[in-house]
Amino acid sequence: MQICADMIVHSFIRDGFGLQKIEIELSIVPGLPQMKFLGMPDGLIKESEARIKTAIRNQGFEIPASKQVLIQLRPNDIKKHSRGLDLAVAAAFLWETEQLPKPERPKPALYGELNFNGEVIAPLDFCDVETLKSQETIITGKSETDLGFDYLSVNELRTLSVPTIHTKQDVTLQIVEPSVENLFLSKAQARLAMIIAAGEHSALFAGPPGTGKSTMAEYISKILCPNYEDLKMSAQIARYFGEKLEWIPTRRPHHKSTLLSMIGAGRPPEPGEVTRAHGGVLIMDEFLEFDSKLQEALREPIETGKIMISRAGAAREFPAKFLLLATTNLCKCGQLIPSTKNQCQCRTVRKRQYVERLSGPILDRFQIISFSHEYSQEHDVSLTDIRHRVKRAREFAQENRKQHAPNSRISSLSVEKDISPSLQKVFKLKMSSQRRLKSVLQVARTIADLSESREIRAGHLNEALALSLRSATRIQVDLQRYI
Ligand SMILES: [Zn+2]
Repeated sequence: MQICADMIVHSFIRDGFGLQKIEIELSIVPGLPQMKFLGMPDGLIKESEARIKTAIRNQGFEIPASKQVLIQLRPNDIKKHSRGLDLAVAAAFLWETEQLPKPERPKPALYGELNFNGEVIAPLDFCDVETLKSQETIITGKSETDLGFDYLSVNELRTLSVPTIHTKQDVTLQIVEPSVENLFLSKAQARLAMIIAAGEHSALFAGPPGTGKSTMAEYISKILCPNYEDLKMSAQIARYFGEKLEWIPTRRPHHKSTLLSMIGAGRPPEPGEVTRAHGGVLIMDEFLEFDSKLQEALREPIETGKIMISRAGAAREFPAKFLLLATTNLCKCGQLIPSTKNQCQCRTVRKRQYVERLSGPILDRFQIISFSHEYSQEHDVSLTDIRHRVKRAREFAQENRKQHAPNSRISSLSVEKDISPSLQKVFKLKMSSQRRLKSVLQVARTIADLSESREIRAGHLNEALALSLRSATRIQVDLQRYI
């Protein structure tokens, strides 16, 4: 076996949901028979030594007895996490030791997982990113789906010299609307679901257990109009977690979830639930039971559609544009209902805790607040009809205002011009907070769209005021009476 000059190949490490290209320099020097990774590899990379060596031997190649294999990862100064360095290291080793002929093209990029038999598998996170488009030669392993770019594939290390050519196919995102046949809501619930879904207005469903709060949140997630630009990113995020996107993402974290699991954490930063919900719905059942810091942390993604994670000097921004739907009891026992005979068994201190947690800042997260004890049990409006109305409202906004974003993401100013000036003066007087004013305006725009009306009329504003301002006041004022 002849040892020759150092071998340089390229591979990729994780960088958010994409990949960053790195250089791998492999050198074989006298020393203990081991592989040593330099340049801030993480634990997963370090433990790949046994797997790579076993794969190389099982493919019929040799590993020199008294030589050390040094693997330098560049750039040196960033912590590296990768699922696909196995193939790059094994190939560089086989080329360096001339057990396989060196590639004709210089410095190819290799990214693949190895099993003990030496078979090569394309990692799940290997997908279409800018870095890959500019790369001349990419070699990976077997993949069940099209990767979105041209590449060479090898089934096992032995066939590195005779890879198969794969040409990019035109892949369109394929998602399927969930079936809503046989799903029905009462008239009032249907109206509410229609408004929330058409405008993508964040909503809090409050009331005793068993009154249909969770059902509302679940049904709304089935009838939203997907935004295909956002869903491209959602698909990439799903792939990162080893999942396939079939419909808009719906995340339903448990109320005991930690702050870090919700917003993301780690070094390098890993995305959390708010990012996994990007392009879809974040359902938070028992909202008041979630940690208050976590509720506070939702402010940033709700306002900007993004989340910045800063940990130990490493900062990263992840997408986090989602519709927040939450449910809650109004007290611990769940039987506290505004404006009705009080059945609540909770002690005063407990009631006060709940009511205080429902004070201004938290309620402000929700554009619509609804009381589930008022829902009728007569379910006679089909979800198919509601979905149709939602689509029609969105088409109306597109046709008349060239507006593609849902109403919850447009500015108040652009809505105000659709209201007659005299009406504006009257209703602005009622507003105590700018945020609530914005919610009422946006919800009123959605209600007008559902009636296919360019102008926002008094009736639209009144319905929006009831759903947004009056219900928020009801929680704050009425509940105070019980403590
Ligand atoms: Zn109670």
